[in-house]
Amino acid sequence: MPERDLLMIPGPIDVDPPVLRALSRPPLAHTSPEFIEIFGSTITALRDVFLAPQGQPFVVAGSGTLAMEMGVANLLEPGDKALVINTGFFSERYADVCKRFGATVETLNAPLGDAPAPDAADKILSQGGYKLMTITQVDTSTGVLADVRGLAEVARKHNVLVVVDGVCATAAEEFRQDEWGVDVCITGSQKALSVPPGIAFVMAGPRAIAAFEARKTPVASYYSDWGLWKPVMQAYEQRKPAYFATPPVNLIFALQVAVQQILAEGMPARWERHRRLSNAFKSGIDALGLRQVPLSPVIAAHTMSAVYYPEGVNASVLGKIKAEGVVLAGGIAPAIRDRYFRIGHMGNANASDILAALGAIERGLAAAGARVDLGAGVAAAQRSLAQTPATV
Ligand SMILES: *Cc1c(COP(=O)(O)O)cnc(C)c1O
Repeated sequence: MPERDLLMIPGPIDVDPPVLRALSRPPLAHTSPEFIEIFGSTITALRDVFLAPQGQPFVVAGSGTLAMEMGVANLLEPGDKALVINTGFFSERYADVCKRFGATVETLNAPLGDAPAPDAADKILSQGGYKLMTITQVDTSTGVLADVRGLAEVARKHNVLVVVDGVCATAAEEFRQDEWGVDVCITGSQKALSVPPGIAFVMAGPRAIAAFEARKTPVASYYSDWGLWKPVMQAYEQRKPAYFATPPVNLIFALQVAVQQILAEGMPARWERHRRLSNAFKSGIDALGLRQVPLSPVIAAHTMSAVYYPEGVNASVLGKIKAEGVVLAGGIAPAIRDRYFRIGHMGNANASDILAALGAIERGLAAAGARVDLGAGVAAAQRSLAQTPATV
């Protein structure tokens, strides 16, 4: 299998060589001064990625799903009410996670490809009694981008904690944790943070920490307990050794490099680059006459695209696109699973990757017997890119 295939799925994503090289150095003792410096400085730097100057970062070995658990297990107690803003498969997963920790869960649904409006959340939260609300910033099953800012504003009004699943968004979609009043944001390493899979992140704001400290019952998950991790995170930031459970030291080496790259680009520039590439990719998809799952551009993610197959084409086209050198993902939203595919364009993706992916999609569709105007998607993307030249 050629190692040069372009991996453009919505995570794990392609990893930059300097990040990969960092991963391959021999492990260090997790209590060594050298590792403490690397981990401590990286924990501190994460506040600038989430724009959470007052946040308490938790960085532990695990996937995004563990981060989801760790985000709510410390806040929910049996009988608490939670509202889940449902934009797809991963929102529904959050409902399941909340139930597992004893919450009574209400979901605010929208038609497939749509996003619930803040007003609708306002109506439900007005009934009172809610402890927290979850929002999936980008639901990777539908490619729908939620209005985190508007939804969080409503929750604030009702004094409800806001937990954001940023697994397919953090470090690529605009996000200002402190300014927007988000209490917890969680993510994983393998999506827009551009590190291989295996690190779970939770950024907990002051209200979340206060709610945790006011708990009456112990946290039902031992590994996820903020009380066990917080002293460890604080010790690393103070450059002191500490241990609760072994950090994934090699992944932390890689994370250090990735976070340095992210902050060197700067968050607004990074959000803007993702917008530019996404707009170009989606222009290409439109020009090929393909329909997208999100019902309108304002609720479409910039980290990925979810696109319906044309008439007469099914998931076997992904093999043909792969034969052209680009790896894309099939559907996971149960109602339309076999009718659409997904493309990740986050992290280190660049304009040339966008054109390569569109070209491979055009040739793949043609090989699958679809009527394709070869080059039409690439040309539309080129025009879009030319309108917004890359900033250096
Ligand atoms: C990928 C993803 C997850 C799950 O992450 P894993 O690392 O697969 O456990 C959760 N939420 C969203 C929005 C995701 O995209």
